[in-house]
Amino acid sequence: MTNFSTFKDLLSYCQEHHVSIGEAALEYEVARGERSEADILLGARKILEQMRATIESGLYSDEPSMSGLSGGFSKKVMAFSESPQSFMSSLEHRMIAYALATLEENSRMRKIVACPTAGGSGVVPGVLIALTDEKQIPMPTLEKALLAAGMVGGIVSQRMHLSGAAAGCQAEVGVATGMSAAAIVEALGGTPQQALDAVAIALKNMMGLVCDPVAGLVEVPCVKRNAVAGIHASAAATIALAGIPSFIPLDEIIDAMVSVGQMMPPQLKESAEGGLAKTPTAVSFTERLYGEQPD
Ligand code: SF4
Repeated sequence: MTNFSTFKDLLSYCQEHHVSIGEAALEYEVARGERSEADILLGARKILEQMRATIESGLYSDEPSMSGLSGGFSKKVMAFSESPQSFMSSLEHRMIAYALATLEENSRMRKIVACPTAGGSGVVPGVLIALTDEKQIPMPTLEKALLAAGMVGGIVSQRMHLSGAAAGCQAEVGVATGMSAAAIVEALGGTPQQALDAVAIALKNMMGLVCDPVAGLVEVPCVKRNAVAGIHASAAATIALAGIPSFIPLDEIIDAMVSVGQMMPPQLKESAEGGLAKTPTAVSFTERLYGEQPD
C-alpha cells in the first residue's frame, strides 16, 4: 500500500477504491501490520473519550491557570450562549467553548490529546465533540472522522515540522484547523475531494500565522486562537461541502506553507521575541511573571 506522501496520492487511492479519507486511513494503518482494525478503531475511540473527558473537566471550571492568563473562559461562553445577545448557533457556541475548555485544561497542566500538538489541541476536539453533541454523529463515523484528521496531519508532517518553533503557528493551530475541516466533511458524509478542498481552504487562510506566545506560555494567543480556529474550520468545510473547490491544489499549498515557514524570521517562531510577545502589555506581564525579561 502507498505511503501517501502527497494528498494527490491519497485522493487517487480514495477514488480508485471508493473509500473515504477516514476509511483509507484505517486501511493504511491495518496495512502497516502493527495493529488489527479492531485495535485501531478502539484506539480512536479511546482518544475521542479522552477528548471528551478533557472538555468535561474544563468546561465549567473557574480555576485559573498557573500564570493567571486563562481560566473560566469556556464557562463564560456556555453562559453567553443562553443570553439574548448570542447570535451564533448552539453548535458554534459549543465548538468555541469546547476548544477553550481543552486549552484551559492544557494551561492547568491537565491531560489533553496533542492534536497535532498541545498548542493546537483544542480545534479537533472542539469541532468533533460539538458536532457529536449537536448532530448525534454515531461513534463509528466519529472514529473515521478522527482517522481522517490524523491522515491529514500525518501527510503534512512528512513535509513540514509541526511546531511553532519550526514554521510558526501555521504549523500548529493552522494544521489543526485543516485536520478539523477534513474531520467535519468526513463526519457529514462529504466526498474525499470535498474533504481535501476543505483542508486546502482552511490552510490557505492560516498560512503565515506567526507563533508569538506571551511570556513564552501556550496561553496568549493560543487559548482563544484554538476557539476561533474551530469556526474557521467550519467555514472551510461549509464552502467545500457546498461544492466550491480550492483553486490551488492542497499539495501546492503545503509547499507554500513550508516556504513561508522558512522565510519567517526567528522572532516569530516561538521565541517570544516578536509579534504579540513584544507588545507593551506582554512585556510588562512577562516582567511581573519572571521578575525580569527572560533571555
Ligand atoms: S502561538 Fe505558538 S505556542 Fe501558541 S499555539 Fe501557536 S504555535 Fe503553539
